[in-house]
Amino acid sequence: MSTLDKSRGPAREALLRLVGEARPEWRTAFTTDGTDEPTGIIPVCSDPDHEPDDGSVYVCCPEPAIEVGATELAEYLVALLNADREEKGTRGGSPQQGESTHEAAQAGGAQ
Ligand SMILES: [Zn+2]
Repeated sequence: MSTLDKSRGPAREALLRLVGEARPEWRTAFTTDGTDEPTGIIPVCSDPDHEPDDGSVYVCCPEPAIEVGATELAEYLVALLNADREEKGTRGGSPQQGESTHEAAQAGGAQ
Protein backbone atom coordinates (compact mmCIF):
# COMPACT_ATOMS: atom_id res chain seq x y z
CA MET A 1 0.00 0.00 0.00
CA SER A 2 1.44 3.35 -0.99
CA THR A 3 1.85 6.32 1.31
CA LEU A 4 -0.91 8.02 -0.65
CA ASP A 5 -3.29 5.11 -0.09
CA LYS A 6 -2.42 4.92 3.60
CA SER A 7 -3.10 8.59 4.22
CA ARG A 8 -6.32 8.66 2.23
CA GLY A 9 -8.55 6.93 4.78
CA PRO A 10 -7.58 9.04 7.82
CA ALA A 11 -7.84 12.18 5.65
CA ARG A 12 -11.41 11.26 4.78
CA GLU A 13 -12.23 10.73 8.43
CA ALA A 14 -10.78 14.16 9.21
CA LEU A 15 -12.76 15.78 6.41
CA LEU A 16 -15.91 14.11 7.63
CA ARG A 17 -15.32 15.77 11.01
CA LEU A 18 -14.27 19.13 9.58
CA VAL A 19 -16.60 19.52 6.61
CA GLY A 20 -19.30 16.95 7.36
CA GLU A 21 -18.44 15.21 4.11
CA ALA A 22 -15.72 12.63 3.49
CA ARG A 23 -15.16 13.74 -0.10
CA PRO A 24 -16.05 17.41 -0.50
CA GLU A 25 -15.39 19.10 -3.82
CA TRP A 26 -12.48 21.53 -3.55
CA ARG A 27 -11.65 24.81 -5.27
CA THR A 28 -8.76 27.24 -5.22
CA ALA A 29 -9.34 30.28 -3.02
CA PHE A 30 -7.92 33.66 -2.12
CA THR A 31 -6.87 32.73 1.42
CA THR A 32 -4.40 35.59 1.75
CA ASP A 33 -5.07 39.28 1.20
CA GLY A 34 -3.27 41.08 -1.60
CA THR A 35 -2.47 38.19 -3.92
CA ASP A 36 -3.22 38.34 -7.66
CA GLU A 37 -3.96 34.63 -7.86
CA PRO A 38 -5.62 32.24 -5.41
CA THR A 39 -2.95 30.70 -3.18
CA GLY A 40 -5.11 28.43 -1.06
CA ILE A 41 -7.74 25.71 -1.19
CA ILE A 42 -11.17 25.34 0.39
CA PRO A 43 -14.17 23.03 -0.01
CA VAL A 44 -16.69 24.36 -2.55
CA CYS A 45 -19.26 26.62 -0.90
CA SER A 46 -22.90 25.59 -1.17
CA ASP A 47 -24.32 29.02 -0.37
CA PRO A 48 -26.57 30.03 -3.32
CA ASP A 49 -25.47 33.67 -2.94
CA HIS A 50 -21.81 32.73 -3.38
CA GLU A 51 -21.04 32.80 -7.12
CA PRO A 52 -19.08 29.67 -8.15
CA ASP A 53 -16.41 31.73 -9.92
CA ASP A 54 -15.89 33.99 -6.91
CA GLY A 55 -12.64 32.72 -5.42
CA SER A 56 -12.88 34.75 -2.23
CA VAL A 57 -13.48 33.23 1.19
CA TYR A 58 -16.51 34.46 3.13
CA VAL A 59 -18.24 33.51 6.36
CA CYS A 60 -20.61 31.31 4.32
CA CYS A 61 -17.73 29.08 3.23
CA PRO A 62 -16.96 25.72 4.85
CA GLU A 63 -13.78 25.04 6.80
CA PRO A 64 -10.96 24.43 6.31
CA ALA A 65 -9.45 27.17 4.17
CA ILE A 66 -5.84 26.12 3.67
CA GLU A 67 -3.19 28.57 2.54
CA VAL A 68 -0.52 26.79 0.52
CA GLY A 69 1.50 29.76 -0.71
CA ALA A 70 1.42 29.25 -4.48
CA THR A 71 -1.30 29.13 -7.11
CA GLU A 72 0.34 26.17 -8.85
CA LEU A 73 0.34 24.18 -5.63
CA ALA A 74 -3.26 25.15 -4.86
CA GLU A 75 -4.37 24.01 -8.32
CA TYR A 76 -2.50 20.75 -7.95
CA LEU A 77 -3.98 19.98 -4.53
CA VAL A 78 -7.50 20.77 -5.77
CA ALA A 79 -6.97 18.47 -8.76
CA LEU A 80 -5.58 15.75 -6.49
CA LEU A 81 -8.39 15.97 -3.95
CA ASN A 82 -11.09 16.14 -6.60
CA ALA A 83 -9.58 13.24 -8.54
CA ASP A 84 -9.69 11.20 -5.34
CA ARG A 85 -13.31 12.20 -4.99
CA GLU A 86 -14.20 11.01 -8.49
CA GLU A 87 -12.29 7.76 -8.18
CA LYS A 88 -14.74 6.18 -5.74
CA GLY A 89 -17.32 8.89 -5.93
CA THR A 90 -21.03 9.00 -6.52
CA ARG A 91 -21.07 6.70 -9.50
CA GLY A 92 -24.62 5.42 -9.71
CA GLY A 93 -25.38 7.08 -6.39
CA SER A 94 -24.54 3.95 -4.43
CA PRO A 95 -22.86 4.35 -1.06
CA GLN A 96 -19.13 3.66 -0.88
CA GLN A 97 -18.09 0.23 0.25
CA GLY A 98 -15.70 -0.90 2.93
CA GLU A 99 -15.20 2.35 4.83
CA SER A 100 -17.23 4.38 7.30
CA THR A 101 -20.27 2.28 6.58
CA HIS A 102 -22.24 3.63 9.52
CA GLU A 103 -21.57 7.21 8.42
CA ALA A 104 -22.51 6.42 4.85
CA ALA A 105 -25.76 4.83 5.96
CA GLN A 106 -26.65 7.89 8.03
CA ALA A 107 -25.84 10.28 5.21
CA GLY A 108 -27.80 8.19 2.71
CA GLY A 109 -30.87 8.08 4.91
CA ALA A 110 -30.87 11.77 5.72
CA GLN A 111 -31.09 13.02 2.18
ZN1 LIG B 1 -19.11 30.93 0.51
